Parts: sequence; C-alpha cells; structure tokens
Amino acid sequence: MRLQHGRTDDHRLVRGCVLVLAAAVAWAAESYESDLNVSRPAVLAAAAPAPPRPRAGPSRLVWVLVDGLRLDASRRMPVLNRLRADGLDVVARAEFPSFSGPQFIAQASGIEPAASGVLSNGFPSEVGLDSVFRRAKLAGLRTAVVTTDGDDGLREVYPRWIDESHIADPLERVPSADLALVHIDHPDEAAHQHGTRSPEYRAALAVVDDFVGRVVATLDPRHDTIVVSSDHGNISAGGHGGTEPEVVKVPIVAWGAGIRPGQGRRVGRARDVGPTIASLLGVGPLCHATGRSLVGSDEPTARQRAAVGALVGGAGRRRTKHVPTTIFVAVGTFALLVRRTRSTRRAWLTTPTYALVFGILLVGTHTVSFSVSNLTVPFAVRVTTLCVLAGLAQLFVGGRASVAPAAFVTSLAVLAIAVVGAFQPVAPVHGKLRFVPIPALTSLAFVCLMTAAVGIPELADADGGSVGDTERAGREAVATGLLPVHALAQCAFVEPDPARADDFVDRHPERERGYME
Ligand SMILES: [Zn+2]
Ligand SMILES: [Zn+2]
Repeated sequence: MRLQHGRTDDHRLVRGCVLVLAAAVAWAAESYESDLNVSRPAVLAAAAPAPPRPRAGPSRLVWVLVDGLRLDASRRMPVLNRLRADGLDVVARAEFPSFSGPQFIAQASGIEPAASGVLSNGFPSEVGLDSVFRRAKLAGLRTAVVTTDGDDGLREVYPRWIDESHIADPLERVPSADLALVHIDHPDEAAHQHGTRSPEYRAALAVVDDFVGRVVATLDPRHDTIVVSSDHGNISAGGHGGTEPEVVKVPIVAWGAGIRPGQGRRVGRARDVGPTIASLLGVGPLCHATGRSLVGSDEPTARQRAAVGALVGGAGRRRTKHVPTTIFVAVGTFALLVRRTRSTRRAWLTTPTYALVFGILLVGTHTVSFSVSNLTVPFAVRVTTLCVLAGLAQLFVGGRASVAPAAFVTSLAVLAIAVVGAFQPVAPVHGKLRFVPIPALTSLAFVCLMTAAVGIPELADADGGSVGDTERAGREAVATGLLPVHALAQCAFVEPDPARADDFVDRHPERERGYME
C-alpha cells in the first residue's frame, strides 16, 4: 500500500514538472518576438554629425501621427486630399514588423526596426537613438508630444528630448512648441474593434480629418509646416504587424513652408518621415537615419546616411538565429517520458494527430500572420481554441495514452519550425515563417498542459501503482470539459477578410525595390 502511494506521488511529480514546462513554453511564445530586440544595435557606433545651428524665428512644425490609418481610407479624407494637392503626397511602405512601437521609432529616428533593434512594442527601455526631438532640442527648439492614448509608451521613448507631453482626449489644442507631435489613436482602436469597413472606423477618420483642418487653420504656410503620417494600416478585420499590402501601405502628406506644391504622387518609406522633418526644421542630419528626406537632401545628410548604411548594411537580411531553449527542454522531457511508458500500438500510430490538426486549422483559419496577433488576449483565445480542437481530435483518435507521445511528436515539430524561423531574415518580404513559431510554441504549451491534465497512465501502470478509478474518471471529466470551452472560445473567432488592398497596391514595385538597397 505504501509502495503504491509512493509511485502515485512520483507520478504527481512528473505531472507537476510537465505543468511547469507548459508555463515556460507559453512564456517563450509570448516573448518570442521581443527576444529579438537589440538594446545596443550596431548603428549606435555611427559618428555624430555636427550639431545643428541654433534656430530662431517664428516657424513651427506639427507632426500628426494617425495610428492605424490605411492608405486607401486616407484618400477619402477631404482635408488631407487638399493638403496632398497643394503639397507632398507620398505612398510609403511601413517597416517590418508593422507594430506601432517599432514604426514610431522608424519614423522619429529615420531607421528601420531591423537596424534600430526595436522589433516589438515591448522594447524594454529608453531608445538610445538620435531623433527629430533630440535634433530639435540641440538647435534650441521646444518640443512637445500629445497623444490620445493613455496606455501608450510613446511619450517615454525619448524622454530627455521632449519638453512637454500630455495625454489629451479629445484633442482640443496643439501645444505651441516648435516641434509638436500629435498622436491620434482612435482609428487604430476602431479598426481593432470593428474592422476597417465599419462606420466606427470611418467616423474616427472623419474626426481626424476635421482636426487636421483645424490645425492647418492655425498655421502660416510661409513659416509653418504640417506633416501627416500613419504608422501602419490594418487588415479589414482589424490588426497589423504583418506584411499585407493594406497594412504596409501608408500615407505621408506634408504641406506648408519648405514644401513645393503640386509634386504629384511619389513613393517612399516610413523611415523617411524623420529625415524629412529634420530637413524641414533645418536641424539635420539625423545621426542614425537610413531613410531619406522627401524634400531634398544636402551634402552632410547624404554623407551621414552613407556612413550609417555602411554600418548597418542589409540589417533586414540578417537571420533571426533565435530558437527558444525551452523547446529543447520539452523534447528531452517527453523523450524521457515516452521511453518509460508502454504505449499501445494505437497510441503510437496516432501521435501526429494533434500537430497535424493544429497545423491544418492554423492555415485554414488564416491565423498565420503577425496581423492577427497584436491584440494578445483575442489572439490567445483564438489559438487556444485551435489547440482545444486539435487536443480533442488526439483524444478521440488515440485515447488518453496517446497524449504524452503526441506531445513528444509536437515538440519535435515545433523544434523544426523554430529552426526554420531562426533562418528567416529579421525583416522578411513575407513575414509568415517569422511568425509561425509563435502559434507553434503556444500549441506545444497546450499539449504540455493536456499531458499534465490527463496524466500518463502507462507510466503509473508500468511502475505498478495504477491510477485510482476515481482519479481516472476525474481526468476524463477534464477532457470532456474541454468541449464547452471550445464552444465558448469559438465565439471569439473573427475570420480575417482575405480581400487584398484595392486602389493602393503599388503599381510600380520595381521602383520601390530599388529604393534603398
Ligand atoms: Zn499603431
Ligand atoms: Zn493597433
């Protein structure tokens, strides 16, 4: 009797370890993208250009950053269209990944995420890069940031170079600083919640357009300038981060002093915003910029950009080289476990079911892009639903005895996917293979959890301490209980609209390809 208790305890310990492993793998999934952040990127070694000359005079520059504004939607904003006609109209490509944080750095510092090292919204510290705010301050100008987003870390990225910052919602007035950034988050919020075809998204854009009109009315175009840009678009169902055309095509519009009217439509990059602002304010060049000024460049700016280009090279083509170590721990753990179990033939033959069903569901439900992942909770619910379905398939086809071997097979599959991910460029043309390790790790975390929940009956049986009937019944109840969880989670499904970008798909891809490299 004592012997049997000891073995049941042993079995509990194994299940506890697998539970801890589940948590570690889930953490690896959550931090996969931010683990690629680089705090000391190579570009910081760039020699600083001469400081800007002190500026005087009554000039102002207002930079309106509209969060989540799609290019096609921006062409239905009358005030913005008037500014385009009288100023600069640029079809720009957002940088990869198209999350807000990396995009903001790309625009303010003029450098793409692959070279800036800021690859996720969760960058852990102040960014040590030069920026339009720093250059303006060095020239003796006042800088300000106002945002409608209370949660946004945008104000803390360059804290030493911003004189005043506010959260203001609704926006009543623009600070009178020489360089004022106004960040408007409502369009992105509306897109995430209701999609970009919703009346809510259109209403948010109408408010932005009206606001831009009110700002323009306060500017004197002989001295003052407005620059309007978007950090990224949104897929029709709401979401961004990936490389879909409707996400990466963004507008840059500029009007006022320093802008020659009627230049027609041009192509550019999101990273051009910072160099353009620095040029308009006469405070350039930006120390770490790879982008170029859209209003013409001077000799020091060209020299600095060439020096930075030589330092960072093709940063986007560098490989991620990231394989989370917990995957190796998972492979080892399950290899040991399945060696100690005496699984039936049926259990062994059905081991790939979980991984296969999960993979098919992932592709079939279009859950293979960063753009469905950047709201963590809905994404976690969605992927967990796929995991539950795959888990039920495994239980149905192979029975409880097949779960631990299926976890072993899954850990091997996830290792293979992570290795493929490690060979992906930091900024790929299509981001799917960079993204797939995240749901793959989530599926591994779930199958670990399942192993801990249903137990490893053969392990206990092999040791002679069989699992009690009551406990067995309890586990089966857990497995059956997954059904209502699945039904509930299915309500959270949002099918992304496969519709491609319409009127703004770049018709001159060859021109864009030749842009930077
Ligand atoms: Zn954003
Ligand atoms: Zn967003």
